[in-house]
Amino acid sequence: MYANTQNTQATAERGVPRTHIAPSVDGGSLGIYTKSLVAPPKRVHDFILQDQSCKLLPKHRVCNCLKKRIDKNKNRTVKYNVDRKKSHWSNVQRCASLWVCPVCAKPITEGRRTELSIGLERWKKEFLGGCLLLTLTFSHSIDMPLAVTQLGLRKAYQYFVGHRQVKKIFEFLGVQHKIKGQEITWGENGWHPHNHILLFTQHAVHGFASYRDQLARIWMDSCIKAGLRSPSMKHGLDIQDGSHADKYVAKWGLPEEMSKGHMKKGKNGGYTPFDLLELSIEDKPLYGGKLPSKLFQEYAIVMKGQRQLVWGRGLKALLRVTEKTDEELAQETEKNAIELTSVANYGFTLLTIFQKRHVFLDCVARDYEKKDGFSSANALLDELHFKYLELQQSKQLE
Ligand SMILES: [Zn+2]
Repeated sequence: MYANTQNTQATAERGVPRTHIAPSVDGGSLGIYTKSLVAPPKRVHDFILQDQSCKLLPKHRVCNCLKKRIDKNKNRTVKYNVDRKKSHWSNVQRCASLWVCPVCAKPITEGRRTELSIGLERWKKEFLGGCLLLTLTFSHSIDMPLAVTQLGLRKAYQYFVGHRQVKKIFEFLGVQHKIKGQEITWGENGWHPHNHILLFTQHAVHGFASYRDQLARIWMDSCIKAGLRSPSMKHGLDIQDGSHADKYVAKWGLPEEMSKGHMKKGKNGGYTPFDLLELSIEDKPLYGGKLPSKLFQEYAIVMKGQRQLVWGRGLKALLRVTEKTDEELAQETEKNAIELTSVANYGFTLLTIFQKRHVFLDCVARDYEKKDGFSSANALLDELHFKYLELQQSKQLE
């Protein structure tokens, strides 16, 4: 009635409320629809996190993501990707906001990781080159704003790579190209932005470790020059061989990395930005009385327009890696998909209000896969409809 499962043509608007399906007896629990679905994710679902992001950033385009329609004359639809065996929303806008939208961040990051691994493979196989992994961090404290640490890090990096001696050492090592990635966590010492740089070398390099201390000293100087506190000789700079570079590329940006149990990370691990977003739902103060919601808002402002990875000039073309925008990557799920159902406005509003957009997707996929004649998708909408009516009634009584 709100959704026409496996019927792409007819899309009925909600008319007379159905009365023959009773709302669930246990006070609106949606247990029966989720039981047969995939195991619940360990962390809050990306769609719920996205809703939280909208709450914290009410003017941001993330608020339209997977909600507002592309073509306002048509209904939103659910498509099913046959290869991935997953369903997704269609005829809805995607915000492609890498830093603040947990839903869009996934395909974008996945795409970037693929680019990285293809690039590194080709560099090794076709150009017989090697790769080193350089990590740069610095000392920071709880009250340093992210904008300050970010700008400082960027400046320090410029001083470092522009330094005469660094250039010389890179030349010895045969460094021909670089890819710079930045990661940000937040912990008891505040914001911790750091750089991982892949150094593409002409050949596999072995004697690089003997340059570490010299490079570390220049890095410390660069930090001071950029107005940052000097890191320690031990922790500021690290340079590792190709096997570490491979590992870094293989796990780069993986959800486990981005979000893995912040509780387990302990004192030094810090929270990722999406951890902070999740923590902002309860919004209990963290170290130094800082609120996760405020930290995430600060992060969103500072990261706007920044790239996740910066490839050296000409490197993508050299390795035949097609230039793709975040927007293009965010649309990737649409490929190889069949349309299963169409959802009228009222039904979609219910799903949004009750934060069930993702549950509905799972229901549609279930109905399609099981083909047992039961439409858990329609049942879900019915349940939400009654829940909504109950809410309206109780509001009127107040
Ligand atoms: Zn988005």
